[in-house]
Amino acid sequence: MTVSQNLDAGALTGTGIQITGVSKSFPLRGGKSLLALEGTDLHTEKGSFLALLGPSGCGKSTILRILAALERPSTGTVLVDGETPDQMRAGSELGIAFQDHALLPWRSIRKNIELPFEVAGRSVDKDYVDELIELVGLRDFASAKPAQLSGGMRQRASIARALVLKPSVLLLDEPFGALDDMTRQNLNLELLRIWTEKPATTLLVTHGISEAIFLADRVAVMSPRPGRIKEIIEVDLPRPRTPEMMRTPEFHALVDRASELLFGADGRAEAEA
Ligand code: ADP
Ligand code: MG
Repeated sequence: MTVSQNLDAGALTGTGIQITGVSKSFPLRGGKSLLALEGTDLHTEKGSFLALLGPSGCGKSTILRILAALERPSTGTVLVDGETPDQMRAGSELGIAFQDHALLPWRSIRKNIELPFEVAGRSVDKDYVDELIELVGLRDFASAKPAQLSGGMRQRASIARALVLKPSVLLLDEPFGALDDMTRQNLNLELLRIWTEKPATTLLVTHGISEAIFLADRVAVMSPRPGRIKEIIEVDLPRPRTPEMMRTPEFHALVDRASELLFGADGRAEAEA
């Protein structure tokens, strides 16, 4: 296991996710403001899988929202494969699945999954839509409306929608957060399979430590608000990853390292600044 500073990988090549010196403050009422991110640096390589771990409120979703061009940084620069978030969004290169599934209630599951094609003004690849529906186990629900599905099924539909344009950048914000362990593990394996077939530059926010290590090439651990990247853990487990690996001493050592960074050696989490 190696632990490195976060300024090395990708910084030399200029591809992948390049977040440099980003801070974000939100205006509050009464002229005050809340500093959500401060001096955040995060650099990954193209096609790599980075997981982001950190206490609630440390700014994980804010980082993803900035990458998705839904928020602007107060200071600093953000580039992915040399493009700004706005450029990436305009080029339909982003696949996004957030905790809140955001499916359109009046459209069927199939029509929701097809939506990115319409937004991008492209013709729908019906075969690929079918393949994804099958992959996320929703074949019998393709013509159902979101309200007729369980929370887990809706989440699976939103993952399929995120993947449908075969994006080069995938932003996932606790996409499986609300699911039971078994469904979650199955979806993690599917995600891994899809990612292996076509490695998108992926940023996954999760609160699952073992999930982060199982899936990612590198795990960035954040400190409490104002969020900074505390440390990057290099996950040097071989690929393809298999569930058996989760029982190896190497895997447990990585989980211990991440837990220590998150909760401290005494098991107590660091408080917000
Ligand atoms: P995380 O995803 O790590 O739980 P967030 O990125 O959602 O954290 O939020 C970081 C901090 O910024 C939190 O304190 C949150 O309340 C605050 N915040 C996020 N969005 C806004 C907003 N639009 N206006 C004000 N404060 C916000
Ligand atoms: Mg969040």
